Amino acid sequence: MIAELDKLIELQKTDTNLRKLKKSIETATERRAAIEQEFEQHASSIREIQGRRESLNSNRADLEAKIADNKKYLERADRNLKHAQNQKEYETAMRETDALQKQIVSFETQIVEIMDEFEAVEKELEERAEEIASLDGKRDAALGEFDSALSGEKEEFASETAHRAEAFATLPARLASIYDRLAQRSRDGIAVAEVVNGSCTACFMQLRPQVQLNVKKGDEIITCESCTRILYIAPKEVEAYA
Ligand SMILES: [Zn+2]
Repeated sequence: MIAELDKLIELQKTDTNLRKLKKSIETATERRAAIEQEFEQHASSIREIQGRRESLNSNRADLEAKIADNKKYLERADRNLKHAQNQKEYETAMRETDALQKQIVSFETQIVEIMDEFEAVEKELEERAEEIASLDGKRDAALGEFDSALSGEKEEFASETAHRAEAFATLPARLASIYDRLAQRSRDGIAVAEVVNGSCTACFMQLRPQVQLNVKKGDEIITCESCTRILYIAPKEVEAYA
């Protein structure tokens, strides 16, 4: 295979890798935000349950305070009942006692309902205890992993950019400009296409046997008759032809 073709293949591999790295670096902010968002959804669903538990607790405390108050009023009403001077006072105290007792029963019923809800919430928190305990750690680990992968990609991008400049500089000017023109023309940046099973992998056109043979020989630059990209056959494919 002529040396220029080797260099072109190398340049194409470098450029394809650079495109991939560039895309990944450019979308890093969004992808990192998506990771944070996912963890935030878990955290907020946990906060919601914890909030429900707190409000149940405070509702219960309110009801207990109301019961305590009503019991005090009930004692007073009982005293009034004992010391009633006439029928009217007696009936008033009796009605008051009755109302207070009913109120206390109603508050107690509400507390029982709250306790049932509270138990269900506690059970839910218990079931998710491991998730709750590990959530922050998992989030930090996922973001740390993401950040270190990203800085690796940035380093690779810098070294590949330098490598690209070097490889490009060693190409004859004519080939370098053909390469750049082809690469800029295609959306995927492919100027050098591998031939697999007799087809150009860029445009999928089946190559004429003579073209396949010329590519296989590799002693001159052969271009695809359909898409004009520079063609090559990878060594293992050359063996398959032999
Ligand atoms: Zn083609």
